[in-house]
Amino acid sequence: MADESEATPTFPDCPRCGEPITMAVVAGPMTARVSPCGCRVVPESLE
Ligand SMILES: [Zn+2]
Repeated sequence: MADESEATPTFPDCPRCGEPITMAVVAGPMTARVSPCGCRVVPESLE
C-alpha cells in the first residue's frame, strides 16, 4: 500500500446529494459533516 500521509486529501462526491466535497469534519464514530453542502454522512463513505 502506498503511504499517502502527506498527500492532499481528496474526497468523492457527497453520497447524499452528489455535490463535490472539499472538506470533511468527523463529528463522531458514525458521523462526518462534509462541506460545502453540509450533509452528514458515514465517514466510511468518504474513503
Ligand atoms: Zn451533500
